[in-house]
Amino acid sequence: MGKSRPCEICMQPIQPERIEILPDTHLCCDHARKIAKFGGEFTITAVRERTSKAGSLKHNYGGVTTSKKRNERALLQLRDEYEQQNTLRWTGSHETQSS
Ligand SMILES: [Zn+2]
Repeated sequence: MGKSRPCEICMQPIQPERIEILPDTHLCCDHARKIAKFGGEFTITAVRERTSKAGSLKHNYGGVTTSKKRNERALLQLRDEYEQQNTLRWTGSHETQSS
């Protein structure tokens, strides 16, 4: 079972150690760090199930469901930024420094 897959942004293989810790990730270490400023690769939402009335003496501690979703918006922003930086690098190398 091959555990590595490419980063969704830069297409570099993701470190197998990282996939072991975060099986859901589609980003390399680098881009996982960069996506943090857009809100992270995943969004985790906690939904409290309404199984008991407020003020009830019986508390339901098991009534919280968390759902983990891929943060598609952040991924788009990160990809945008990545492509922009690549463009800048290319056009930048053609610019002349003299004015
Ligand atoms: Zn990457």
